[in-house]
Amino acid sequence: MAAGCAPPKLQEFILTEKLGSGSYATVYKAYRKVNNREVVAIKCVSKKSLNKASVENLLTEIEILKTVKHPHIVQLKDFQWDGENIYLIMEYCAGGDLSHFIRSRRALPERVARRFLQQLASALQYLHQRNISHLDLKPQNVLLSSRTCPHLKLADFGFAQHMSPWDEKHVLRGSPLYMAPEMVCQQQYDARVDLWSVGVILYEALFGQPPFASKSFTELESKIRSNKAVETALVVEAVKKDEFGDYSGALSLYCRSLEYFVPALHYELDCRRKTAIRTKVAQYIARAEELKALVAQGNQANFEQAKSARVLLKEMSQDKPQLLAALEMGSAAIAQEEQGDDSAETLQLYQQSLGELLLMLTAEPQGRRRVMLHAEIKNLMSRAEYLKEQLKMRENQKEAASMDQDLFSESVKSSCLLQ
Ligand code: ADP
Ligand code: MG
Repeated sequence: MAAGCAPPKLQEFILTEKLGSGSYATVYKAYRKVNNREVVAIKCVSKKSLNKASVENLLTEIEILKTVKHPHIVQLKDFQWDGENIYLIMEYCAGGDLSHFIRSRRALPERVARRFLQQLASALQYLHQRNISHLDLKPQNVLLSSRTCPHLKLADFGFAQHMSPWDEKHVLRGSPLYMAPEMVCQQQYDARVDLWSVGVILYEALFGQPPFASKSFTELESKIRSNKAVETALVVEAVKKDEFGDYSGALSLYCRSLEYFVPALHYELDCRRKTAIRTKVAQYIARAEELKALVAQGNQANFEQAKSARVLLKEMSQDKPQLLAALEMGSAAIAQEEQGDDSAETLQLYQQSLGELLLMLTAEPQGRRRVMLHAEIKNLMSRAEYLKEQLKMRENQKEAASMDQDLFSESVKSSCLLQ
């Protein structure tokens, strides 16, 4: 059955919209005609995509898959077949797939990525204990149970064993972006390739794109084969923004990438790599400092303009003491910062005033004051955001410096031992 045709007919189900399609199959949303119209997903696998011997093996295999029950694995409820297709009747996952989830959020916060990784790991552990490998792990094959409270559900496994990643014409099927080198390079491979893919998925969750994103297969292959450390996508983007003259964008990206590199100083054990990371951290910090000065210059003009608008807004707010007080609090934060107090207390003052101003904005009727209040909130927000980044950068600098101190005392210790 080719993708794009009308959904096939099954006696007990009403097949509706197409949920997706991959290299071997098309998946439809469906309702059971009886049994409370239970919603399911039906995957139609064309028998043509399987070699003859495989069909029978496959049916046995599916029997096994039916016994797989795990909270983070898409449940296979039943299966059927006719002359053309094999139909897998599965639990329906309303949250779409992980690829879409990451893309719509650009990247996931560490907290979410960590939870997802734990869920993925528990699913894989369960499968591997039963001698089932996935062999095609990628974000498109990881589904989400619902939109509101998403759990991961591992999908699309058990088939890969029956299909070589290479077809007869030696064309690679599936996405090599997530495949372990031994798989891409057509060598022997085993269950361990799943672990490689988990690493790639985790990276993509955190940085919004896979570590070896490439324009061509050749480029991809050489990146996978290379043993050079992966430059984080954040730094690459920071440099790009920097070159384009988007200083504040670049500054923010450098600061974010430092959050990843500084902890790496802790866990990297290899001396040479540690030194390389330390050099990079120093470089990024130096550039971030320069950018900070540039951004501050550019901000000065905006600040002046905002200042006169602020005076006016306060005059317009004389009749609303609560609003006035919140505005004064914001002004106090600005004054504190301009006097050189860029501490966490100043940030807190910004945040407190913003909290109250945002509440009042929702109650503020349409009109000039609302427009001005909106502008002032945006102003305060970007100042608070900037201060927050400064604080983070200082923390990173401190941490990097204390690491140097530790290394210094380590080397003193070892040179003492040598004497
Ligand atoms: P293939 O073997 O062709 O790659 P998949 O099982 O990966 O097929 O399914 C293809 C796409 O269909 C998935 O990426 C996902 O978007 C959608 N899909 C698959 N199974 C379900 C399901 N149980 N619930 C919701 N969507 C699904
Ligand atoms: Mg798939």
